[in-house]
Amino acid sequence: MAGKTVAVMGGGVGGVVAANRLRQLLPREHRVVVVDRNPIHAFAPAFTWVMLGWQKAARIVGDLRHLRRRGIEVLIDEVTSLDMERRRLVLTRQEVPFDYLVLSPGVEYGTGNVPGLARAWTFYHLDGAEALRDELEKLREGRIVILIPSVPYKCPAAPYEAALLLDYYYRKRGLRDRVDIRLFTPEPQPLPVAGPQVGEQVLELLSAREVWFGPRMQVQSVDQDARTVTFADGSQVAFDLLIGVPVHSAPRVVREAGLTGDKGWVEVDRDTLSTAWEGVYAIGDVTHIPLANGLPLPKAGVFAHAEAEVVARNIAAQIEGRPESYTFAGQGQCFLETGYRRAALVQGDFLAEPEPRVSLRAPSLFWHLVKAGFARWWLWRWF
Ligand SMILES: Cc1cc2nc3c(=O)[nH]c(=O)nc-3n(C[C@H](O)[C@H](O)[C@H](O)COP(=O)(O)OP(=O)(O)OC[C@H]3O[C@@H](n4cnc5c(N)ncnc54)[C@H](O)[C@@H]3O)c2cc1C
Repeated sequence: MAGKTVAVMGGGVGGVVAANRLRQLLPREHRVVVVDRNPIHAFAPAFTWVMLGWQKAARIVGDLRHLRRRGIEVLIDEVTSLDMERRRLVLTRQEVPFDYLVLSPGVEYGTGNVPGLARAWTFYHLDGAEALRDELEKLREGRIVILIPSVPYKCPAAPYEAALLLDYYYRKRGLRDRVDIRLFTPEPQPLPVAGPQVGEQVLELLSAREVWFGPRMQVQSVDQDARTVTFADGSQVAFDLLIGVPVHSAPRVVREAGLTGDKGWVEVDRDTLSTAWEGVYAIGDVTHIPLANGLPLPKAGVFAHAEAEVVARNIAAQIEGRPESYTFAGQGQCFLETGYRRAALVQGDFLAEPEPRVSLRAPSLFWHLVKAGFARWWLWRWF
């Protein structure tokens, strides 16, 4: 059997799990090659801790180059195009021909042409979370607006978690009566994919903590000089500090390779994550997986992780001439930290019929400790 090359585009959650699992399963005559422009993998669920100064950025990152010690080839380079005809990744310095390809490039951040949004602060990437920490430290009074400009966005619980943690942060500083916190979203309720009951529970958490919630609010523009957000219905809200979720889209190279479907994301077989191209799989945030309630599977690391396991095992089986037998189950859970050393847990079966079965476990110290332990385990396990 000639040696095969499995290329993995992206060393984020999906890519790191896929590459490690493939390397563990495949004999050394087969190559596992990971390409990422950024050698530093950051654990995103901890970005809110960095934003609040509770965790140093250096404590929540892993170095992708450490995977070389396990026999994984790691190329720190930009994928400039995907040549699907010739089956190769085109990088700035070389090309990587592949027999199998795992696409896990995540999303590209933008502003969706919303004027002024580019200057909003954000905790949606590590540099942004660090920069925001200093602004929050300086802010002693005024209004913080958290703005969700569009769907889908990663980790649907994250902006709500940020709002609740900001409430806690300013209460601890004795400034909460001087800091107003408001969250605006085009969504009809928090976490629509989880159903009305979970939405109601999150609303109760927000209202108990005096976080203003504005549903069905579609941002039209931001005036950073006047410090106002204007919505599609003509209403305006003033802010002292604007925290924005970036507008998410599939990365340019994926779009240019014709890999995206009507929804703007890569369409995959929901059991095996295979695409229309033979031997090419897509996992994680770059995919669109429709659920029984008409909404897409949320963009969350827990799913990228599970999908990577399925794809890696099935590719290894194909290479070794065994039948592919692993399928994606759609079970997932996500922590929603609420401050006071407590976290809630949103969990469920997202592929259930006739609709996803998702519930919210009440905030407790237990889930907070589980999240803290998981963060440590993640970086130890994969790096
Ligand atoms: C604030 C925040 C909190 C979150 N909290 C949670 C949580 O509690 N639970 C949860 O399950 N999920 C959470 N998530 C979501 C989770 O981080 C993502 O769903 C997950 O990282 C997706 O994995 P992925 O492999 O698809 O993409 P990513 O992890 O984003 O990895 C993509 C990689 O591809 C690389 N790449 C892209 N294009 C190129 C190119 N052209 N050339 C080279 N490299 C490229 C990027 O550099 C990146 O490293 C959170 C996200 C954020 C932002």
